[in-house]
Amino acid sequence: MRRGNVELIPGKNLGRYPYCNSVFIHEKPGIVIDAGSDEEKLLALKQDPGIGIIINTHYHEDHFLYNYLFPEAEFWVPEQDAPAFESLDTVMDFCGIIGLPDEKNWISYYLDQFNYRVRKAERKLKDGDQLQFGKTRVEVIHAPGHTPGHSGFWFPEEKVLFVADYDLTAFGPWYGDRVSSLEDTIASVEKLRKIPAEVYWVSHGEEIPREQAEGRFAEYLKVITVREEKLLAFLKTPHTLDEIVDQWIIYRKEREPVYFFRFAEQAMVKKHLENLRKRGLIKKEAVIGLHKEFFVRS
Ligand SMILES: [Zn+2]
Repeated sequence: MRRGNVELIPGKNLGRYPYCNSVFIHEKPGIVIDAGSDEEKLLALKQDPGIGIIINTHYHEDHFLYNYLFPEAEFWVPEQDAPAFESLDTVMDFCGIIGLPDEKNWISYYLDQFNYRVRKAERKLKDGDQLQFGKTRVEVIHAPGHTPGHSGFWFPEEKVLFVADYDLTAFGPWYGDRVSSLEDTIASVEKLRKIPAEVYWVSHGEEIPREQAEGRFAEYLKVITVREEKLLAFLKTPHTLDEIVDQWIIYRKEREPVYFFRFAEQAMVKKHLENLRKRGLIKKEAVIGLHKEFFVRS
């Protein structure tokens, strides 16, 4: 999948987690966006034409998986996510992992499975930055929510939009970090949807032609509404956070490893609860003597 000098490098296993798709800009040396696709392919590109710059769309582990293989490359990341690359404590804090009983497991998961290495960014990318690599022009589209710095990349000549982790899958958007935002996610997906691309490249899955894109964007956003409706239906009677998490409204069923998915389920449900409370649709009640908090429809 190549348009002009820009190529989508499919990740292993269709780019499913723990891998992602990479975007490669053919220059001498080349530029990789998200080095999480395929170790062999990336090492071959390092041989020829060389890799001069590594860009990350955001700080998630499946996107930085193979960054460590390119220590000599320049490193560019969105400015809001740069602190997560500069300190392990910060990435743990951004994810909401600090203080969890299994914090140590998460830390070794990042270091050993995903090769996390502290790395200072040579350039911090901002919304609207125009990057020129030889003949190839690319605009940075800041699309926060998934993470605060999460950014897409728009190639106006090739009419390719790399939407990164707003991957238009049936699962729907993911906003499970402490610093993720449900409201920003919706606004960012709407922003990306308006860009007149001919093909859409996603971090996970296959390229999406323009004819399918509108339907996929609509379905993707609808997942958020469906989650909200299920939550509101369940909260016709009061429930604790634990009881709500047991419903698996986001992941649809309990998944293994449970510690990993239950953590994300809870984090995302909490974003919905905050959002519904702000809109006056639910309220929190404390029952005296029970030391428990309940959520219920207003
Ligand atoms: Zn991500």
